[in-house]
Amino acid sequence: MRTIRTIAELRDALAEPRRAGSRIGLVPTMGAFHDGHLSLMRHARADCDVVVVSLFVNPTQFNERADLDRYPRDEQRDATLAADVGVDYLFAPSAAEVYPDGFATKVSVDAALTNVLEGELRGRGHFDAVTTVVSKLFNMVGPDFAYFGQKDAQQALVIRRMVADLNLPVQIIVCPTVREPDGLAMSSRNAHLSESERRQAAALHRVLARARDAVGDGERDPGAVAARAEAELIATGVEPEYFGLVSPDTLEPVEGIDGEVLAVVAARVGATRLIDNQTLSPVPAEDRPPLEHTRCIARC
Ligand code: AMP
Repeated sequence: MRTIRTIAELRDALAEPRRAGSRIGLVPTMGAFHDGHLSLMRHARADCDVVVVSLFVNPTQFNERADLDRYPRDEQRDATLAADVGVDYLFAPSAAEVYPDGFATKVSVDAALTNVLEGELRGRGHFDAVTTVVSKLFNMVGPDFAYFGQKDAQQALVIRRMVADLNLPVQIIVCPTVREPDGLAMSSRNAHLSESERRQAAALHRVLARARDAVGDGERDPGAVAARAEAELIATGVEPEYFGLVSPDTLEPVEGIDGEVLAVVAARVGATRLIDNQTLSPVPAEDRPPLEHTRCIARC
């Protein structure tokens, strides 16, 4: 695997495979790899001839300076892990390479998708920063496929919208959330949790699992599902920022449950902010597949 720092070098490396018609896959990341990241890379490896992983801690998408400063960084470890799963290029540009002096452009998806949930909590600028950097990465790499995690469901939806609206020639693949054995969604931020916070953090998955079971067993009142989930989070010592049942297509809160809905949760465990989500489907228990609980697997 080769580590590349500049856009010119990257374009140069990809010119020949592109001319030869090779399928190029991109996995955008901010590093501190865990099995969630690696599952996206494995998926890309299975689908594509050339796999590029970008590693860029995008400063513009952090609304809290402290969160950016303490974001875990270990490029050497990341490079070893990416090489082990067969990644071809690790693209790790500097901030000056991505945002040279005079940079003044923004890609912005409509507020209906970007001003709610994470957009409301982290500020509208969060998703503008994400869509701007992701569209820049798409232009730098020119991928045929780009891989994102369902863990960040709103981000995946916003990026799909951007790609459709701007006719970007890339197919977006969304891979399932990879979880720890107790169900906690893997996240680079889990590294900040103390031992007791780590135990408390499993509550996010637990309340989503309960919500899924309740809806499968006939509960049709989104307000009742949310109230129970928030009460359980608070009882565990976790501070909910939101728990909601929303449309998986528009992210609008649902008023009833008569088809698939997306349960979304954000909460603070100590100083660490965590998010998770789960699709809920009103089908009887006997027809329900086992709760989504994906460990690291060859293909996600
Ligand atoms: P990040 O480095 O946190 O920006 O994440 C890079 C990509 O990995 C994003 O598309 C995330 O949605 C995805 N990702 C993060 N955590 C997980 C997880 N536990 N399972 C699957 N994908 C994940």
